[in-house]
Amino acid sequence: MSFSLIPDYSFRSICEVTPEFLLSRGVALLLLDLDNTIAPYGTVVPPEDIAAWAKNMKRNGIELFIITNNRGSNRVESLASAFKMNYIMKAHKPFVSGISRALEQLGKKPGETALAGDQVYTDILAANCAGLLSIIVEPIKIRNPMLNLRYWLEAPFRAMCPNKL
Ligand SMILES: [Mg+2]
Repeated sequence: MSFSLIPDYSFRSICEVTPEFLLSRGVALLLLDLDNTIAPYGTVVPPEDIAAWAKNMKRNGIELFIITNNRGSNRVESLASAFKMNYIMKAHKPFVSGISRALEQLGKKPGETALAGDQVYTDILAANCAGLLSIIVEPIKIRNPMLNLRYWLEAPFRAMCPNKL
């Protein structure tokens, strides 16, 4: 558990995170950020490659669960149901309250849980504070200038990641 903005691992895309990688690190539960991690902003249909990736993860014994700061929206429900994943909205990342709720709900401990997301200041900080394995991925799509700015501000912490896979 640490107040750190540095991800434990960095991947180009969520699809490059394999069951073997997680299982070899004792991870049985992967919490997933939604926007720009497993679906682009605004879409209601899962990208095909990520849907296939999720299926393979579950087939290999990794439990998947969406943890998003999105506030009550039908879009989250549609996406989660299409992905066949349960979810928590209003997770308030970088605070750990949403993560704690998810772990309690699923009966899992921080040591057997990872969180993957595209944002350092929310996803990675929350994962590190909660004592989870933290995984940063590149955002699926950067469309608006504010996201570009945010991505630029996060760059030093992405660069400091000790394990770029
Ligand atoms: Mg995101």
